[in-house]
Amino acid sequence: MSKKLTLIMDWIKSRTKDRIYFNSEHMVRYLTRRTFSISEIETVLAEGSILETHSHPLRNDCYLVLAYPDNKPIHVMCTKDKDENLIVLYAYRPSEPTWKDERTRRQVKGQPMDENLRKCFFCNSDIEPITVGNFDFRWEGSLYVIKGVPAGLCVQCGEKYISAEASKKIVAKIEKKDFTGKDDVLVFEYEG
Ligand SMILES: [Zn+2]
Repeated sequence: MSKKLTLIMDWIKSRTKDRIYFNSEHMVRYLTRRTFSISEIETVLAEGSILETHSHPLRNDCYLVLAYPDNKPIHVMCTKDKDENLIVLYAYRPSEPTWKDERTRRQVKGQPMDENLRKCFFCNSDIEPITVGNFDFRWEGSLYVIKGVPAGLCVQCGEKYISAEASKKIVAKIEKKDFTGKDDVLVFEYEG
């Protein structure tokens, strides 16, 4: 690591040891689903090294940190926001096809879901087109299930992306109460 990155990594380590950091909602979902434990994430941030710096004109630099809790590689993306807070954005276990090994990205060929959306905002991996069998969410005590929604799926972190057009169609169906199902489970067919 360069001198600059070593200083940033030292800052990340010290914030982690003092437990002065914030998790993104994305990160909290991983922790509550037990995809990762808090101790695994803190081990990465307290012992890791910076593998990549991701720069974006409208955001502060994000740092991809690698370490090996229990001898298994984990990548944690974090950033220092403009108020100098450590924000933990997301984490994943590096794997094929995006990563050849935990330090080496592989170039993946394939059909993007939409030519404007090829890379995951969260982890920069490839997005592939899928149909979500049951896209569900809870609202005001009911479970809404929308069947057959076209989406883009990040092959690495599992984030899903739904186009504006598909979102509009879902909202229109919900507003028209165009559903089947009973009690508090409302089932919508995306098509038809
Ligand atoms: Zn992703």
